[in-house]
Amino acid sequence: MMKLTGLSIIGAGRGARGGDVFHGINPSTGENLPTDYHGAGGEEVDRAARLAEAAFEVVAGLPGRERAALLRQIAARIEDAADAIRLRGSLETGLPEARLTAETGRTTGQLRLFADLLDEGSWVGARIDRALPDRKPLPKSDIRFMLGPVGPVAVFCASNFPLAFSVAGGDTASALAAGCPVIVKAHHAHPGTSEIVGLAIQEAVRASGLPEGTFSMLYGSGRVVGQALVRHPSVRAVGFTGSRSGGRALFDLAAARPEPIPVYAEMSSINPVFILPSALEGDTEALAAGLHGSLTLGVGQFCTNPGLVVTGTGKAVEGFKAAFAAKVRATAPATMLHRGIHDSYTEGVGRKASNRRVKPVAVVDCDGGAGGSDAAPAVFATGAAAYLEDPMLSEEVFGPSTLLVDCTDAEEMLRIAGNLEGHLTASIFGSPEELAGCGRLIAILQRKVGRLIFNQFPTGVEVCHAMVHGGPYPATTDGRSTSVGSAAILRFCRPVCYQNFPQAALPPELRDGNPLGIMRMVDGKFER
Ligand code: NAP
Repeated sequence: MMKLTGLSIIGAGRGARGGDVFHGINPSTGENLPTDYHGAGGEEVDRAARLAEAAFEVVAGLPGRERAALLRQIAARIEDAADAIRLRGSLETGLPEARLTAETGRTTGQLRLFADLLDEGSWVGARIDRALPDRKPLPKSDIRFMLGPVGPVAVFCASNFPLAFSVAGGDTASALAAGCPVIVKAHHAHPGTSEIVGLAIQEAVRASGLPEGTFSMLYGSGRVVGQALVRHPSVRAVGFTGSRSGGRALFDLAAARPEPIPVYAEMSSINPVFILPSALEGDTEALAAGLHGSLTLGVGQFCTNPGLVVTGTGKAVEGFKAAFAAKVRATAPATMLHRGIHDSYTEGVGRKASNRRVKPVAVVDCDGGAGGSDAAPAVFATGAAAYLEDPMLSEEVFGPSTLLVDCTDAEEMLRIAGNLEGHLTASIFGSPEELAGCGRLIAILQRKVGRLIFNQFPTGVEVCHAMVHGGPYPATTDGRSTSVGSAAILRFCRPVCYQNFPQAALPPELRDGNPLGIMRMVDGKFER
């Protein structure tokens, strides 16, 4: 087993002992895990940020294939550490070892997806407008455009994906791919897993011969270390996944800097599921099983968990609900990621249970278990009119809880859709023929979410080029972006154009003859 030291990673070195000390906690037992973790001091935050700024000058100018090589090095080193990750990860998070193994594969696959994107090269969005010296009344200059990195990025790890949205997760992979050094603020709920992965990245940076400031990882509280990082003048952008309050606090802090910077925070979503009448003409048992599986997957701790299910009324709906409720009642409690998530889940369920507008459909008792972090699913129901009257019923309860809402007609369904805040996804179940008549519903949902899904549940986010894992506020702080898939790289870039530049001084992506063979827009037409 790898020896953990509990110290931050600052460039090629380690942080000091001292600072606020905390431990990983086994959420199944409530026991502290070995290794004291030491929060970074203000001087260490400053050093990590300055090293990142110095590294940026080099990393930003590297050819894409060298950044791709770094990402592949990181992936290979994470694979080498897979056993240590699986063992420590499952102790710290309560997640089954098989999930840790699968998430390790997702994380390395994600790194390699960005590496392939860099090798292909066209992602820079090159545009070339050639000069027209004879244009009347004024000549046109030669103007060439491409995307480049914004600068050092601060990444706040999520608790619910200890690998894929953590130290070497999508934010880190996309920022490094763009040419931005990364400073990670590790999540307190999986410090050992973070250390193993952080060391893999540190080693990959060293072996690639890149400046040490290409990567650092800091332990410590979000309010102290995290906020110091966001305030630091060397930091140019922020990636975050977590609570709405945390994301919003960082967004406000970044906007209040003398020089504001963008914050890409992915925060909350209830992922509404609309069940049209035709969906209940077929196998309602299978539909109920699908909803139950999506609701309880990972103890409901996915940002794409289905927290709102909108149906019509009638016998078929009642049959579907009864089948779903029976499955929920038969679900055993399971351990949540940490005490904080457990407590906010039980408080949210308590608020729903005490709301006179809803009735319980299936609420499974749970005393918290030995570690105080076990939870059980909770399903409630209400009518559309009551739902629309009470904004509290639209609140996200992060965990395996959902609210079933009956609509007496299609207009009520449209009103529910129109009343939604921004979310990551919306799903519609029904026949293709019935969907074809739902133009208004689709049009409303297009304005509300980042991903529209037909006849599938929202959990399970494919990491691919066309994925959008984003959505209007409050799903994210910037609904023009995605945090999953290769388009996530665009968050950490900005466009730069070169006017009247000599060929030799242009980046290869923009030179005549297209030496990299990438797709470019030349005088308004795409060509390779
Ligand atoms: P969190 O409390 O938002 O924490 C995420 C990270 O942000 C942590 O590193 C935390 O630091 C930091 N942070 C939080 N508030 C901050 C602030 N005001 N200023 C600076 N940094 C701050 O999320 P969590 O611990 O993962 O889970 C808590 C709740 O977040 C859940 O119950 C759920 O509602 C929501 N959540 C949402 C998603 C999603 O996918 N959208 C995922 C996970 C959780 P510390 O280490 O000091 O806590």
